[in-house]
Amino acid sequence: MSCPRLHFYLPAYTQMLAHAAAMVPTEACGLLAGQGEHVSRVFPLPNVAPDPRLGFIGDRSATIAALRTIDRERLSWLATYHSHPPGEPAVPSPADRRGAAGHPGVLQVIVSLSTEDGPTVRAYSLAGGQFTEVDVLTISE
Ligand SMILES: [Zn+2]
Repeated sequence: MSCPRLHFYLPAYTQMLAHAAAMVPTEACGLLAGQGEHVSRVFPLPNVAPDPRLGFIGDRSATIAALRTIDRERLSWLATYHSHPPGEPAVPSPADRRGAAGHPGVLQVIVSLSTEDGPTVRAYSLAGGQFTEVDVLTISE
């Protein structure tokens, strides 16, 4: 069961971008949760990758805690997000493709801080090691 697209409520979108900006030059990562296709909650995770400028690994105990909260709030885990440092586009890197285990139905969101017009956010569904881009929309509450 995968979402054909992802809608962000504006506060969640803003929180994710602020997290990404705050972590430069390292990659930010976290979980996105909500209902249906609608992201309402952001769970930033510590990036425990050996070199967090080049990749991301969400801290395991923080991930478990976030998933418990998602469950308790009767939300769904919709996506995992991470950021790419300035100069890198919002497309899966070779490391992203290598690490592309993924969870069924959970989208991959990539935030790029590289553009002059502002950040770019793209989402991908992952099946059989293939990334397929899905639409990202923002909605105000
Ligand atoms: Zn990446």
